[in-house]
Amino acid sequence: MNYISTRGRAPELGFEDTMLAGLARDGGLYVPDEIPQMSADEIVALAGLPYEEAALRVMRPFVDLSDEVLSDLIARAYGGFGHAARAPLKQLEPGLFLLELFHGPTLAFKDFAMQLIGQLFAESMARRGSRITIVGATSGDTGSAAIEAFRGLDNVDVFILYPHGRVSEVQRRQMTTPAEANVHALALDGDFDDCQAAVKAMFNDFEFRDGVGLTAVNSINWARVLAQVVYFFTSAVALGAPHRKVSFTVPTGNFGDIFAGYVAKRMGLPIDRLVVATNRNDILHRTLAEGEHRKMGVAPTISPSMDIQVSSNFERALFDAYGRDGAAVSRLMDELSKDGGFPVSQGALQALRESFDSGRASEEETVATIRAVHAATGEVLCPHSAVGVKVAQEHLDPAVPMIALATAHPAKFPDAVEGAVGMRPPLPNRMADLYDRPERLTEVPNDLDRLKSLIRERIAP
Ligand SMILES: *Cc1c(COP(=O)(O)O)cnc(C)c1O
Repeated sequence: MNYISTRGRAPELGFEDTMLAGLARDGGLYVPDEIPQMSADEIVALAGLPYEEAALRVMRPFVDLSDEVLSDLIARAYGGFGHAARAPLKQLEPGLFLLELFHGPTLAFKDFAMQLIGQLFAESMARRGSRITIVGATSGDTGSAAIEAFRGLDNVDVFILYPHGRVSEVQRRQMTTPAEANVHALALDGDFDDCQAAVKAMFNDFEFRDGVGLTAVNSINWARVLAQVVYFFTSAVALGAPHRKVSFTVPTGNFGDIFAGYVAKRMGLPIDRLVVATNRNDILHRTLAEGEHRKMGVAPTISPSMDIQVSSNFERALFDAYGRDGAAVSRLMDELSKDGGFPVSQGALQALRESFDSGRASEEETVATIRAVHAATGEVLCPHSAVGVKVAQEHLDPAVPMIALATAHPAKFPDAVEGAVGMRPPLPNRMADLYDRPERLTEVPNDLDRLKSLIRERIAP
């Protein structure tokens, strides 16, 4: 399988090079040149399989590795999860289900992708005998998941830029407490978009990029999107797909998770609606509702992992909506960075609306949802998952079960949860000493040259 850039001017690559490249050299994102199909029989056959076996069958056509190697990597990736089902499904009310994606080592759904990508990189580097520098921007959960996945691996340094003072204490501690020398937590004086812009700029400096072996594991990395496709299949099959359609509501920031749902749908999974749930940073909801994609500044919320104004993976959806016209996507992205936004063409908007619905939840609605779901079911939602459940409740269709994705464990956001239900959710036992471990971080200014020299110094042999 080959991968092409959404901006049409980068070389086509195979799976491994796509994964190692992260961002394409023309600034675009890699997507498969064609989406492999799973037949109804193949989907039926996923029912009842262990998660790892289903993952192998869903991902296999995208990856150029033998089944033996891939299934070994998958087994290692998910072996450390705290739940045997990996992604258990719970019913909240008639027609509404919660997919718990927070049983990984850092308690957020990002572990599904990051744990696998760590294994894939380790396998690739061992085979190639090369070394890499991973640089990522995080609004909290990506960074901790990346550090957890790469800590202590040979031939890798991992640098994570996070907005200083804007991540939760658990998120910060998960990034700053690993003691391995290859882990570098950088607290940037700015917001998440500043972090993301700095990472993009480093990738666009080819001399620096090649000099340090720069690699991205942000949600733009195709391998991450791919790992997330799996649980759309396993959960839909558990509720009767392919004989019965299902819908999903996804708490959305960078559009990586919901784009994985879109890929599942394109592969043949009968998904009815994919509902984008945003907090008050609602660029995606406004885009789908009004047809204008326009940045508005980031407002901090109690669901900080969704506090973005530039949603990177949305470019992949635009690429398809514009008939895979890389030149058109290039022009839109230029307009976005020069003018802060662009109108979506009528045809593209119609194409987007064929797959996606959207809704947004205010801070008050998010808190009220945590409280109401707890009172009705005993389930304690994290604020991101609550945004999803709130929007899901507005999109229920009696004929189609709705699955809302629970993207983080409530203990990752104890202040918001306490504000809603009056108690602090405990961390799972396996990480109960997190608050006692010493922290290690470097505060950095929002200055690209200083960042680049810091990275060069840290990786110098
Ligand atoms: C990253 C994250 C999101 C947003 O996911 P995207 O793939 O960026 O849309 C939602 N909730 C939590 C808890 C997250 O960590």
